[in-house]
Amino acid sequence: MTTLPDARLYIDGKLRDATGGVTFDVISPWTGEPVGKAADATAADVDEAIAAARRAFDETDWATNVEKRVALVKKYRELFERERPRLAQLAIHEAGAAQGAVGRAHVGMAIDGWDDYMAVFNKLEWEKDYGEKQAAGIIHKRLGVREAVGVVGAITPWNVPLYVNIGKVVAALLAGCTVILKPAPDTPGMGAIFGELAVEAGFPDGVINVVFGADPALAGEMLVTDPRVDLISFTGSTGVGKRIMEQGAGTLKRVFLELGGKSAKIVLDDAPSFAMDVARTMLVFHAGQGCAVHSRLLVPRSRYEEAKAVLKGAYGNFGDNWGDVENPAHIMGPVVSKRQMERVKSYIDLGQQEGATLLAGGNIRPDKGGGYFVEPTCFVDVTNDMRIAQEEIFGPVLVVIPYEDDEDAIRIANESSYGLSGGVSGSHDRAINIARKVRTGSMSVNNGMCIAGDIPFGGFKASGMGREWGLEGIEEFTDVKMLAWPVG
Ligand code: NAD
Repeated sequence: MTTLPDARLYIDGKLRDATGGVTFDVISPWTGEPVGKAADATAADVDEAIAAARRAFDETDWATNVEKRVALVKKYRELFERERPRLAQLAIHEAGAAQGAVGRAHVGMAIDGWDDYMAVFNKLEWEKDYGEKQAAGIIHKRLGVREAVGVVGAITPWNVPLYVNIGKVVAALLAGCTVILKPAPDTPGMGAIFGELAVEAGFPDGVINVVFGADPALAGEMLVTDPRVDLISFTGSTGVGKRIMEQGAGTLKRVFLELGGKSAKIVLDDAPSFAMDVARTMLVFHAGQGCAVHSRLLVPRSRYEEAKAVLKGAYGNFGDNWGDVENPAHIMGPVVSKRQMERVKSYIDLGQQEGATLLAGGNIRPDKGGGYFVEPTCFVDVTNDMRIAQEEIFGPVLVVIPYEDDEDAIRIANESSYGLSGGVSGSHDRAINIARKVRTGSMSVNNGMCIAGDIPFGGFKASGMGREWGLEGIEEFTDVKMLAWPVG
């Protein structure tokens, strides 16, 4: 099994070990065995990173020198290009990505997103003319100017770590902020590489800092509560997102939150049969560990038996063609950790207790190599009030729910605390009309692709607030200042 390079902290321009030299093991989801070591940052390390980011923002020209920033971010991008093979190794051995999906979904999409950011950044309006207005007999000229928000704490999850790390770090840097990146304990290497390549690119000290540790909450809570941090950009679970809002209130922190989902795909009565086969798209994407996967399938009652047959076939065809780390044709590997495997299994048990019927899968499979393998699983005879239909499982588990008519499908899709993504398949105008009525941040119509670096992504309701990616994603890291003066 591959041994990954040690993941070191990057604080105030220096790559270094944690104070006291403590490390923790990085565990491979494929084997359950250690595959690398990471520095275990102490509170003193995190404090130093915050101080460095603050100094770099307040005492250098980083926020005002756009040309310098763009040149460095471009150079940084080229270094990531060179490191594609290592990025793939990290995605495979830290996050459990499968060979058949890693290049495209974990590395390619992230690097493409970076390029999209660079392109849309050119459209950012740093100044906006608000024209003239008379007040108290005097005509005033008004000008809006955009400024970087300041020091950003970027807290990221393990599931698509490169994509999310780029989504936050690149946007913040382009906007003129300084950053402290705090990746999840499962994927420290995918954060550490941002430090290593920052050294090589030649970023000024303190502009980028990377801290991580075995305790998932320590560094994150320090970032959220410290008055020297201006903005928290968080991607992760809704539970931790709520806590961040509460804890950020003490310093009136600006927070934006990309949280969980339980997205519905609605298959209309005039959709082709293959639209029901969300098994493949569900499974391709990282054993169901994608925030935007369509984990609820809504099928007209008149076509429910057909859906069962289509899915039985799809899961059957998938068979045992998954879970081999060496196989480039395999698109699905393990879930990220023992904790996650046990969590997913407990939902599978719950589904059976709730009265749903297991159509396929349902078992954990340690025989696949000792790691954290859960079979591709599908429940039918599910009602939307069951917990398996309401709670985010974050594993390869699909639930299939029947509906009566279009209004019923919209009602079921919307009866969720989440609102991240979703899809509709069927005749175009009807599908667009339904997509507009579902309260989520994105909807794919007939498999339209709603995720790309040049368009905004984010959630409604308990799926979060604010937008990442696209011009809107960069603007989140800026503030608007108004200037006005008398004229004429
Ligand atoms: P998580 O909420 O457990 O952890 C996310 C990050 O927060 C990690 O870095 C973790 O160490 C840190 N953290 C944990 N406790 C904290 C605390 N008290 N204060 C501050 N930081 C803390 O999520 P996860 O298990 O790493 O990721 C899976 C979740 O992420 C799923 O719910 C998934 O839907 C969501 N997600 C959302 C998107 C999106 O764009 N909406 C994208 C990817 C993942």
